[in-house]
Amino acid sequence: LLLSYEPAKRLARLNVALSNQLVGVRLMYELLDRPVVLRDKPDARNFTVERGEVAFENIVFRYKDAPALTGFSMVAPPGKVTALVGASGAGKSTAFSLLERFYDVESGSISIDGIDIRDVTLASLRDNIALVNQDTFLFDLSIRDNIALGRTDASEAEIMEAAKAANAHGFIMELPGGYGASAGEGGLQLSGGQRQRIAIARAMLRDAPILLLDEATSALDAEAEAKIQSALSRLMAGRTTLVIAHRLATVRDADKIVVLDRGKVVEEGTHDELFAADGIYRRLCDLQFRTPDAAA
Ligand code: ADP
Ligand code: MG
Repeated sequence: LLLSYEPAKRLARLNVALSNQLVGVRLMYELLDRPVVLRDKPDARNFTVERGEVAFENIVFRYKDAPALTGFSMVAPPGKVTALVGASGAGKSTAFSLLERFYDVESGSISIDGIDIRDVTLASLRDNIALVNQDTFLFDLSIRDNIALGRTDASEAEIMEAAKAANAHGFIMELPGGYGASAGEGGLQLSGGQRQRIAIARAMLRDAPILLLDEATSALDAEAEAKIQSALSRLMAGRTTLVIAHRLATVRDADKIVVLDRGKVVEEGTHDELFAADGIYRRLCDLQFRTPDAAA
């Protein structure tokens, strides 16, 4: 999904009438009352991600008075999956918001392929990033148009291809009206797992080289979970993925795990390395990650 949780909620409350009208990604961002409206530098350039290496360097950031990141540094290697873990409030979501440049850092820098994100246009930055988060917001539009929000000029065939890759085509075809079924509040009651797969289809269609994934904390049944996992594996392939991980299976499979505590990185490595180190990560494993797959 292209919207982050808070503004999507706000948008829902505004009950914006979008019927039969697709709203471009940029316009959507403009609709959302983000706290700070950042502007492009006069000489900002459009950029296209080449390798997709994302680097946070010594980031300090606070919301009003509350410190959120306090010297946060990490590198997400190109084309690999990096899992961010840590207690609630550690700063994981803030790292995502800063990478999408909804706020600017107080000090430090964020770069993609060595280019400071403040030197490129906001539009081109966000064109290179897709976000799939916990709460998938569906507009009062058809299923087809909800998926097409990922890329408004997509053809019917491309929309269907994205839905297939997201393991959504099957359930969509069973809906009365299929791709034409209305997905809004007055329309279908889709399950959490189905909504997530619509969000994955949107991101597939967008085909951005950098993927931000905020894993759902809510439990799904095993079949829904398996469908989402296989769809996500397809989505992550070949992209630089940063995932706020809530499932043990995700961290175990990640190429790299970064452990945050109070706004900075305190441990990093693979699951086996960190588990053996017997530090914060190991305690998080015991406490935080959902247990269904813990025994596997
Ligand atoms: P995480 O995603 O790891 O749970 P967050 O990045 O959401 O952590 O939060 C980091 C810190 O910033 C927390 O102390 C949180 O309360 C605070 N925070 C997050 N979002 C906001 C906001 N919009 N306004 C003020 N404080 C915030
Ligand atoms: Mg968070």
